Amino acid sequence: MTPSPIWHPFTQHALEPSMRSIRSADGAWLKASDGQRIFDGVSSWWVITHGHRHPKIVAAIEKHAAMLDQIIFAGFTHEPAEEVAAGLMKIVPPGLTHVFFSDSGSTSVEVALKMALGYWKNIGARRTRILALEHGYHGDTIGTMSAGARGVFNAAYEPLLFEVGRIPYPKPHHAQPTFDALEIQCRKGDVAAFICEPLILGAGGMLIYDADTLKEMHRICKAHDVLFIADEVMTCFGRTGMIFACEQAGISPDIMCVAKGLTGGSLPLAVTLATSAIYEAHLSQDRAKTFFHSSSYTANPIACAAAAANLDIWRTEPVIERILALSQQQSLCLNDLETDTRFANLRQLGTIAAFELAGVQPGYLADVALKLRARLLERGVLLRPLGSTIYIMPPYCTTKDELKSVYRAIGDTVDEVLR
Ligand code: PLP
Repeated sequence: MTPSPIWHPFTQHALEPSMRSIRSADGAWLKASDGQRIFDGVSSWWVITHGHRHPKIVAAIEKHAAMLDQIIFAGFTHEPAEEVAAGLMKIVPPGLTHVFFSDSGSTSVEVALKMALGYWKNIGARRTRILALEHGYHGDTIGTMSAGARGVFNAAYEPLLFEVGRIPYPKPHHAQPTFDALEIQCRKGDVAAFICEPLILGAGGMLIYDADTLKEMHRICKAHDVLFIADEVMTCFGRTGMIFACEQAGISPDIMCVAKGLTGGSLPLAVTLATSAIYEAHLSQDRAKTFFHSSSYTANPIACAAAAANLDIWRTEPVIERILALSQQQSLCLNDLETDTRFANLRQLGTIAAFELAGVQPGYLADVALKLRARLLERGVLLRPLGSTIYIMPPYCTTKDELKSVYRAIGDTVDEVLR
């Protein structure tokens, strides 16, 4: 067979020479071109919420594809975008009044950083420094890599990355060093914004912290006029048990990034939400104060129609009940692992469950991750362990039996791999 010219993301082709071809998807399942059914235990990189091909989302996409494919979004608007923006206004934390569209999580974070810096520049204050949480992940563009943790993923690009003030990750029951470091940095008076993933650091290893900690970090930022950016790219639309993770702490960030689940995971779309203070700082007869950001596909009408259908699903279907049921099933499955010495540090936030392989060298490049992934796939389960951290983040339509079979596959596969 002629080798494919495709260069895949986050893939070492020397170790993974061939890719599985997927032909179709339905609910929590993928169907490979060779006919194998594969359970989507990572919601196709954390994007699929209700399940693959929710009929209302598919219908909205079909309808709008036949009507309006694409339109420049500067100087123009369209109904699906207006519907999404109005729908978001009803559910986002109070105080977020403006919606800026883009097309990926990374871009929504780039936009957030630019909005923060633009805000301070336009009101005439010299605040240019960004603070971020240790182990954070915000994307793979230069700005988002700068805000994210440094490591093997971005070592080669280090010369291009800008410095950020790093705040220690708030370890469970030991968050004081985080608060102290944040306070010290914020007091310096030159900080534009603090960015964090609320309640759970995803790519950093599914590291969970509590709502009180999030609330206190927000309080410290507010006390020093530091803009608080919530990166809800992964946590949005129910992953953590509520629509947005910030809700659990009762906080309103100044800027919030929303992507992955915005279209139910069907099409690429993102938004960055901002307060009126940030919007108004860019409002001027002086064109130099414009918010200078765009990308060709900003607010693509078909993607917006998918997002509008997603919002409608949240309004009309018992989504929170499904999330609750899945969360309860995750708890039961984790309980069964409690006395299993092969696993350690069992943890859960809403629909997301994670644990470590006991006694295995930690680190993203741990060989065990690739082996586990390959063996699990043979058994028809798609998981992507982060080094020695195994996590399960399935779509909300996942049944009790499906989830149990994923845990069974993990148990069996771990034995094979560690033997
Ligand atoms: N921010 C967070 C918290 C993420 O988890 C991710 C992706 O996993 C991103 C940003 C980047 O999003 P995207 O991959 O859509 O660019």
